[in-house]
Amino acid sequence: RTVRGSLLDALDLTLTPMGARLLRARLTQPLLDPAEINARLDEVQRFVDDAVLRGRVREALTGAPDLERLTNRVLAGIARPRDLVGVAKALACAAGLRRVLTMGKTDGGSAERSPMDGSHPGELFDPCTDVAELIGAAIVDDPPATVAAGGVIRPGFSSELDGIVAGARDARLWIANLEKRERERTGIKSLKVGYNKVFGYYVEVTKANLDAVPADYIRKQTLVNGERFITPELKEYETLILTAEERQAELEGRLFREVCERIAARGGALLAAARALAQHDVAAGVAEVAVRHRYIRPCLSDDDVLEIEGGRHPVVERALEHEPFVPNDLRLNQDERILVITGPNMAGKSVYLRQNALIVLMAQAGFFVPAARAHVGIVDRIFTRIGAQDEVAAGQSTFMVEMIETANILHHATPRSLVILDEVGRGTSTYDGLSIAWAVVEYLHNHPERRARTLFATHYHELIEIADRLPAVRNYNLAVVEEGGQVVFTHKVVPGGADRSYGIHVAQLAGVPRPVIQRAQELLQQLESGAFRPGTPAPKPYQPVLFAQEHPVVEALRTLDVAAMTPLEAINALYQLQQQAGEAGSGGGRRSRQARRP
Ligand code: ATP
Repeated sequence: RTVRGSLLDALDLTLTPMGARLLRARLTQPLLDPAEINARLDEVQRFVDDAVLRGRVREALTGAPDLERLTNRVLAGIARPRDLVGVAKALACAAGLRRVLTMGKTDGGSAERSPMDGSHPGELFDPCTDVAELIGAAIVDDPPATVAAGGVIRPGFSSELDGIVAGARDARLWIANLEKRERERTGIKSLKVGYNKVFGYYVEVTKANLDAVPADYIRKQTLVNGERFITPELKEYETLILTAEERQAELEGRLFREVCERIAARGGALLAAARALAQHDVAAGVAEVAVRHRYIRPCLSDDDVLEIEGGRHPVVERALEHEPFVPNDLRLNQDERILVITGPNMAGKSVYLRQNALIVLMAQAGFFVPAARAHVGIVDRIFTRIGAQDEVAAGQSTFMVEMIETANILHHATPRSLVILDEVGRGTSTYDGLSIAWAVVEYLHNHPERRARTLFATHYHELIEIADRLPAVRNYNLAVVEEGGQVVFTHKVVPGGADRSYGIHVAQLAGVPRPVIQRAQELLQQLESGAFRPGTPAPKPYQPVLFAQEHPVVEALRTLDVAAMTPLEAINALYQLQQQAGEAGSGGGRRSRQARRP
C-alpha cells in the first residue's frame, strides 16, 4: 500500500482502506488553524488515554470493507452482489464501533449511554441498520459474482421468486424420476433419460428394446445402437424449467436493482458512516503509533515559535538497529530565526533537518510527534531544498535543480514559513557555492517579507562567521569526539560551529584505498598550514574575499594612471573620487561606479 521506509509507512497503523486514505489525505494536507488541529488531537488523545477503548475500537474496525467505495459503486449503479454483502459487513463493523463508543468510559460502568449524549461528534453517526437488514434479507450470504449467474436473492425475500424457483425445482424432480417411471412402465431396463443442447431432454432406448417402445414416444434421433425419443409431457416439463430459469433471472435482476435503489437512497448516511469509520480508524491508529513509539501531543499556537525538545526522526529512528537514536532539540523564533548547522559528513545534519520538518508537518496534520515536548507556532509552508535528486533524465543538471528550488524559496517564503536548506551551493565550486550560501542566508535574514524560520545545513565552515554579522543567526553543530585517533559521531546538536569536516575520515570508512587517504591527509595539512606544494599550482589561500570588501574609492584610485594625466584631469578625477566617497559613505552601496576620466 505504501512505500517501505516512507513517513506514511511509519505512521499508518489504520485497519481499513477508508482509514488509510484519510490518513494519507491528512498528512498531505496539513492544517493552519490550531483549533481544527486540536480537535483532531483531542480524538487521538482520547485513544491514547484509554487503552481499553482503543483496543475495542480497533477490534471493531478490523476487516471492515471499503464502505465509501462500495457505496459509490451502488450510487453509480455498478454494484455487484458481493459489493452489497461488503456494505452489510462494513455496516456490521460500524454498528460494532457505535456500540463500543457509546459504552461509556471503560474505567466506569459499562452502562449504555444514550447514543445522542456522546461528547465526540463522530459518535453520532447513523450505522444504517436498516440497510444492513435489507441486505441481510435480500442477498444470500455468499452470492455469485454476477446477478446473471442466478441464486443471488435469498429465499423468503420474494414470494413470486420463491414460487418460480419451487416450480422449476418440481419440474426437475419430475424429470429426475422419469427414468425410473418409464423403466417400470415399458419394462426396458436399459432405458435412459438424457439431455443435450440440440434436443433438450430425451429418452434413449437401445436397438434390442425398440419393440417395447410405447406409442406416445416420438422419435427424434437415430444412433448406431439405438434411438432417442421425446414425449409431449417431457417437453412440457422442459419448457417449464426453461421459462422458470428465464423468469428467475429476470426477476432476480429486477429485485437486485430495487434493493440497490433503496440502498442508494441512503447514500448520504452510508457515506457519513464510512467517514466515521475512517475518522476513528485514523484517530485510533495514530494513537496506537503514539503509544508504541512514545510520541507526544504537540502544542499548537499562532506565534512564530518553534521549540522541540528531544525530537526524533520517525523513520530513521525505527531503521536503526544497533544503536539508539539520539534525540535533539530545536529552538527557533524571531530573535533566533536562522540556524546554520555545520558538522562533518555523516554526523546527522540531514536527519536533524528532516526530523524537524517532519515533526512540524505531523503536528499540523493532527498527529502526535516523536519528541519529548513540541511547541509549534503554525507554519504556513515548509520549503525544502534537500538532497541531490538525480534530474539528469529530465534534462536538468543537479546544480540547476538546486538553484531552481532555492529561487522558489527566496521568492515565496514568508515570515511564517519554515525553510529547510540542506547544503545549498554544494553542487558548484567552493567559492561559488559559499558565496551563494552566504547571500541566501543574508537575504532570508534581512528581507522583511522573507524572514522565515530557517535551518541551513552546510559543509562550508566559513559560513559560521555570518552569525557574528547577523543578529538572528545562530550556529549549531553536530558534536564529534575523537578518541585515540578514532572519530565518533555523537549525533548530538550543540551550540557553536564545527571546526573540522572529517571528510577524509569518512572516505576511509567508505573503503577508499589507504595510499589515497594518506596522500589526502598530507595535502590537507599543507593546505591548512598554507604550504600547499603538491607540484600543481597552489590554490588561493582558503579565505574568501567575500567580506574583505575594499572601499570602491580605493579601487578606483588604484586604476588611475596618474603619470598620463594633465593637472586638470587629475583635479577632475580627484573631485569625482570625493563625490564617490560621499555617495558610498552615505550608504550608496558596494557596487559604486568606477571613476572615469572626464
Ligand atoms: P552528509 O553531510 O554526508 O550528507 P549528514 O551530516 O547529513 O551527512 P545524515 O545523513 O544526516 O548525515 O546522517 C548520517 C547517518 O547517521 C544516518 O543515516 C543515521 O544512520 C545516523 N544518524 C543521524 N542522526 C542520528 C541520530 N540523531 N541518532 C542516531 N543516528 C543518527
